[in-house]
Amino acid sequence: MDMIKGINHVWLFFTDRCNLGCGYCFYKYRTQQQVITLKTFENILNYIRPVAPVEFIFSGGEPLMDAERLKEMVTIIRQEGLSRYISVQTNATLLDESLMEFFLQHGVNLEVGIDGDEATTQRNRPGIGEYYYRDIVRGVARVIHAKGPMTATMVVHPSSVGKLFENVQYLAAMGLKSLEVHPAFLEVWGPRSSAIFLDQYRRVCAWELREGRHGLIGRGYSEPSQGGWDLLSVPSGKILANWLLLSFPEEVREHLYLMDFSNGSSGKFLPQARGYFQALQEHMMSHPNCSYRSISNFNASYAVKTPPGRRYEERVKHYMDLCEWIEAIDHKMMRTLPWQRSGTKVS
Ligand code: SF4
Repeated sequence: MDMIKGINHVWLFFTDRCNLGCGYCFYKYRTQQQVITLKTFENILNYIRPVAPVEFIFSGGEPLMDAERLKEMVTIIRQEGLSRYISVQTNATLLDESLMEFFLQHGVNLEVGIDGDEATTQRNRPGIGEYYYRDIVRGVARVIHAKGPMTATMVVHPSSVGKLFENVQYLAAMGLKSLEVHPAFLEVWGPRSSAIFLDQYRRVCAWELREGRHGLIGRGYSEPSQGGWDLLSVPSGKILANWLLLSFPEEVREHLYLMDFSNGSSGKFLPQARGYFQALQEHMMSHPNCSYRSISNFNASYAVKTPPGRRYEERVKHYMDLCEWIEAIDHKMMRTLPWQRSGTKVS
């Protein structure tokens, strides 16, 4: 299987430690103990070197919990010229001046996660407390002030969906210039909360047009994708093909791992990879020019076909229906704002 050419992005979920405990966390089933070893990291680099430079996204857990390992890996990638783009997804609470300086020096994009005002954050991210909220806001302000490459992600939980528009305005007023708005995956999206999401999202789009805020809402997720799969490593070095698969518990994920780069492992495809790639190929052939969102959703639908994944079938179906409507709105906006067609990144 010469599948290496189809790699879209390299995602390194290199630590599963995090200082927050968000209710909607897309990586719920973490041990809070695992950090990738340099040997495993080197095994992954050996594999992707033939197709480098590629795009790297560092995530966790909270990557800044293991900042020294993160810095080591970014430095190696930059020194060897292996990347076109590096991004770090962070909750921003641990971002200090010296880390900010490091990211600026190494041309690293920071993707901060912030969902809106304090009340929304307290609700979505239970146990966060006012001090953590202040840490998030301070970290985000530091990134804005530094004027380096930056994006932001706002996760919308069904329980606070009625404030989606208000929270977009709130984040824009903080100075954010690029914001991806995502419904929380594997949460309960029923017909009512989905309808509210769409109504609120349409209000955001109308406001964007009315106020000339072109480019504020990132729509890279709805653009035609380059196709293929993501090489996504969990801290142990096991490989999944898409970030949505990370959200499932280990009993589901163990049916979905494609490779294993852990210490001493060669990174050969596991037997179950054949079925996955056949299904992916069929999806790509029947959905030419499909978006990254569509590929992600294909992955979620593949996961719920595994025996332990079946219990998530209904949640995934409602989520996918909502995503289809979001994408239809995005396409309409992209026709209205044609410069958005190639301007945003998926990461
Ligand atoms: S900050 Fe990110 S990794 Fe940490 S609990 Fe929240 S969603 Fe999960």
